Amino acid sequence: MRTPNQGKRLFKNPVLEWLSRSSAPLVISSLFIVALAVFCLGIFQMRISFWKLAFLFLVGLVLFSLAEYLIHRFVFHDGDYKAGKSWKTKIHAIHHDIPTDPERLTLPLPVALFASFLVFFIFKIILGNLAFGVFPGFISGYAFYLLVHFLIHTRKPPQNHLKILWRNHHIHHHLKEDKAYGVTTPFWDWVFGTLP
Ligand SMILES: [Zn+2]
Ligand SMILES: [Zn+2]
Repeated sequence: MRTPNQGKRLFKNPVLEWLSRSSAPLVISSLFIVALAVFCLGIFQMRISFWKLAFLFLVGLVLFSLAEYLIHRFVFHDGDYKAGKSWKTKIHAIHHDIPTDPERLTLPLPVALFASFLVFFIFKIILGNLAFGVFPGFISGYAFYLLVHFLIHTRKPPQNHLKILWRNHHIHHHLKEDKAYGVTTPFWDWVFGTLP
């Protein structure tokens, strides 16, 4: 469902504007499918053992969680990110401006898919066939991050220990933008001293 009045317009061109909006559940499920497909390719096409791929999957997950922190802190919040008109402004400041816009909680589907294929080829060049385990872990980490972020902005916090994720992300949005860069875990904020 399109909700053009809920968010800010990013592009004058109506096609680009339409492309800049995506349903978060659609993007999240597409990325999980891409991860599963590459994992299966690793087993059935490349004949890599399941347990080796499972270990590499965990490596990819941890790698993504570190990337989630570093990209949010050093790329998205680099300098006066709200004042500029760069791609960083477009993808992150728009979310800080209107955190409740449900169609701007993920990258647009075509961009997310293109970026994930790019990541696969970079991993393939650097890691060779190990990419068939590391990439699905990395992309599942990304999809999981999008899911947690989507739930934080669209659902009330649960009444259990997970509510710290809601609390930290709302602090990041409304109180201290230079704290709580991690969305799926406060671990890297603790390591790098940005825990609120
Ligand atoms: Zn932010
Ligand atoms: Zn947010």
